[in-house]
Amino acid sequence: MLDRLEQQPPDALLALIKLYEADARPDKIDLGVGVYRTRDGDTPVFASIKAAEQLLVDTQDTKAYLGPEGDMSFVHALMPHIFGKDATHHGRIDGMQTPGGTGAVRLAAALAKRAGITRVLMGTPSWPNHAQIFADLGLELVAFNHATEDGAADLQALEAALQDAGEGDAVLLHGCCHNPTGVDYTPEQWDAIVALLANSPVLPIVDLAYQGLGRGMDEDAEGTRKLLAAVPEALVGYSCDKNFGLYRDRVGALYVQARDAQGLGPILSNGAALARAAWSMPPDHGAAAVRLVLRDSALTEQWLAEVAEMRQRIRQVRAALAERGTAGAIDLAPLAEQNGMFAMLKVSKEQVQQLREEHGIYMAGSGRINIAGLTMNNLPKFVAALADVTA
Ligand code: PLP
Repeated sequence: MLDRLEQQPPDALLALIKLYEADARPDKIDLGVGVYRTRDGDTPVFASIKAAEQLLVDTQDTKAYLGPEGDMSFVHALMPHIFGKDATHHGRIDGMQTPGGTGAVRLAAALAKRAGITRVLMGTPSWPNHAQIFADLGLELVAFNHATEDGAADLQALEAALQDAGEGDAVLLHGCCHNPTGVDYTPEQWDAIVALLANSPVLPIVDLAYQGLGRGMDEDAEGTRKLLAAVPEALVGYSCDKNFGLYRDRVGALYVQARDAQGLGPILSNGAALARAAWSMPPDHGAAAVRLVLRDSALTEQWLAEVAEMRQRIRQVRAALAERGTAGAIDLAPLAEQNGMFAMLKVSKEQVQQLREEHGIYMAGSGRINIAGLTMNNLPKFVAALADVTA
């Protein structure tokens, strides 16, 4: 039976990591893989997390099973940071821990399917795993254009998609720091989206994977909060893997907003049943460390300062790129207005290959770059190479 399975292509970005590692050029630049890097090119463990991990080693007295919902103290400790002061919306929001933001999106989609959703509307390009998850679950993807030519979010395309949608449809929205374009909805556009969804049967699914890396912790959650204040039901997938630097520890949560407090139990019981059948329970360590950070005010302050430093560095690189104006045929000015670690450059596959082979600059074939791979030292080389291949 098993030899019927056909060879699948490797994940393009993971293959790029291998190529980068094999490149002997000392001034090579990695703009491919989606992890944050300091100005020295490192992806360190946060100091707040290190302190929490030490506490965990010193005080954790059991590793007995928790349950499919994971560490609920972790799930609840995050809520004020995501949803603001009235973090449960009068008891209408609760959640469960998931293996990373990927697990959260997967569980959101599976739960939506169980509830009768058959199609998911989504702006493209998007994080490639979104489409893979929907396809794997047998959900139909209805794609619309995410960003316009001039680098703004394409609200009209979303409006048109929603006009043709109805019962049985969900819409996936990136809460902030859109991956791969960096193009977020403006506060005014969020207002329009909220108005559209408030009176629509379409179920909103928000993917919030980069809170704090865009404009600020509250600012990055503003669209999500406004949306939840207006719609009866919604699902929110959350990742702690970027804003706590926990990538491989797989830390995330799925939050559910129900029509009323009584409605939450049945929904979450389905989430727990789906989780039990998929991964039984989420990995504990990273979420326990996050819980300890969030239950200690000094560690929370330290963590927020660490996130602020990441954000400021990303904004600094964006500003420095935008200041250059252009690099050959590429307009760099819009980069300053966009958010988060990613941006899309209008380069062809051939130009991406040329950048890699001739200049040792590695980026996704789509033209997506990780802004955090740039520093004030390697930025001039990057801009010159971009000018060279696009001139
Ligand atoms: N959602 C988006 C938009 C992402 O870009 C990512 C990671 O790249 C995720 C979810 C998943 O993150 P995690 O590593 O927590 O699974």
